[in-house]
Amino acid sequence: MLWEKIAMEVLVKRSKRRKKTIQARMVKGKMEVLAPASISDAALQIHITKLQSRLQKRVCAGDDAHLHERAGYLNLKYFQGSLAWNSIQYSSRQERRRGSCNCTTRTILISDKLANLPQWVEDYVIMHELAHLIEPNHGKRFKALVHRYPLAERAIGFLIATETVSMNS
Ligand SMILES: [Zn+2]
Repeated sequence: MLWEKIAMEVLVKRSKRRKKTIQARMVKGKMEVLAPASISDAALQIHITKLQSRLQKRVCAGDDAHLHERAGYLNLKYFQGSLAWNSIQYSSRQERRRGSCNCTTRTILISDKLANLPQWVEDYVIMHELAHLIEPNHGKRFKALVHRYPLAERAIGFLIATETVSMNS
């Protein structure tokens, strides 16, 4: 797993005004932890470890190298490594779509909103866009390609349940 290799710098900011809650956010690649002044170092460390593993996953999942790795894996497993693309990247401009594939330039964009979903769901979306490299339309042939991924139906259900975003991408 890629994200385990990423070391993360932590910056703790204690505040007397803060009562109980501990918050963490990413600021320029560093994890900034906002904590109450009264909390003990030991207790804080436990919280930081938990928050870190959560944020680390997110940081890594938002990484284009991660997408490239997943696409490469799916290509090998379900397309015998036959697919080729120029780039696959996260995009924050995929308003109503989860992903898009430009078959001419062979570039794939994946909505960065998906970075926080379970890997098997994100994999489905990548599968969908990879299948467009072979078949631009959403017809029978396309569906057969996408359903090589055994969790396709479940992922579609998951996405419908968690979002109101249009399925057509
Ligand atoms: Zn599509």
